[in-house]
Amino acid sequence: MRPIQMVDLKQQYTKIRAEVDAAIGEVLDNAAFINGKAVTDFAERLSAYTGSKHVIPCANGTDALQIAMMALDLQPGDEVITPSFTYIATTEVVALLRLKPVFADVDPRTFCLDPASLEKAISSRTKAIVPVHLYGQSAPMEEIMQIAGKHGLHVIEDNAQAIGCEYRFGSGIVKKTGSIGIIGTTSFFPSKNLGGYGDGGAIFTDDDTLATRLKMTANHGQSRRYYHDLVGCNSRLDTIQAAVLNVKLKRLDDYIAARRLAADHYDNAFKANPKIRIPYRAPYSRHVFHQYTLVLDGVNRDGLHDYLAAKNIPSMIYYPVPAHRQKMFAAFGAGSCKLDTTDWLTERVISLPMHTELDEEQLQTISAAVLDYINN
Ligand SMILES: *Cc1c(COP(=O)(O)O)cnc(C)c1O
Repeated sequence: MRPIQMVDLKQQYTKIRAEVDAAIGEVLDNAAFINGKAVTDFAERLSAYTGSKHVIPCANGTDALQIAMMALDLQPGDEVITPSFTYIATTEVVALLRLKPVFADVDPRTFCLDPASLEKAISSRTKAIVPVHLYGQSAPMEEIMQIAGKHGLHVIEDNAQAIGCEYRFGSGIVKKTGSIGIIGTTSFFPSKNLGGYGDGGAIFTDDDTLATRLKMTANHGQSRRYYHDLVGCNSRLDTIQAAVLNVKLKRLDDYIAARRLAADHYDNAFKANPKIRIPYRAPYSRHVFHQYTLVLDGVNRDGLHDYLAAKNIPSMIYYPVPAHRQKMFAAFGAGSCKLDTTDWLTERVISLPMHTELDEEQLQTISAAVLDYINN
């Protein structure tokens, strides 16, 4: 059996090696390392794939969030509501821009923003909401968009973990996550569902005026060469990364299918066990399983992690400390937030290996080891 890894990028690469190497070779031959043709091709293809009119590539998913907030012209002290149960980048950029992070709780089933908690967090200073499609499942976007509409708030979707995920509205209309809010952002960090071989990110919008501002913001606020109208930053997707991503974007739906198949295997192994809650599959969402995350009930979670590690089976806690308990946000009084579900989940979640290359034998080995620990 091949060694089990959280994410097996090497094995995935061996299957697309010829195409990836040729694509990188072409960039080297043309020496167009910055804003080469692969970058514009990739933006166009990603726009077609996601249904977002404009795709603005940038250097990483954290920059994408920062550029989104800069382009919306949020002012110091404006409040931005995010979940606390997320990767730090979502909330860090809020503080970096001298905006005020306000944390809302999540739904214990979806792990995503709870609309009731979101609505309670809104004040007269709130300007934006950042729902995170955590682990590959969409946040309840219809409710979130309704709440945002009622209060006149911007919605920036942090889609770093859910590219390719679909959301179905009550009307039957289906949209890709990241194309629903006024802006969507994503990351091409290697382990993401669409990952490059280095850092990368992108910003999505249907709004023409905003697209121009986003592009300018990512490029030193430049309107034409050496004319700088806005304070911006320098955030680009390397041509080499775009070349790799072009090869992988073609396969994204197959990659998602492979993840969903692995998730089905785990689900079948665990669904009857009263101590394990398998990932909820919201009827409105097509889960893309960036992570396969269990909620354990009456199990020593860290004991399970160590037990698996001793058998060379990796597992991860995403995330061991929620944002509102990070020292970074102490100055915002975040420590006194009451986010019961976030705290509860933080103690009980565990993510198992999830990637496109898991085979039956590996899945069987992982599930059997988890059940061994839990049943004994
Ligand atoms: C990965 C990730 C980011 C940041 O992406 P980088 O490319 O690493 O900067 C932001 N938000 C979430 C939810 C993520 O998982």
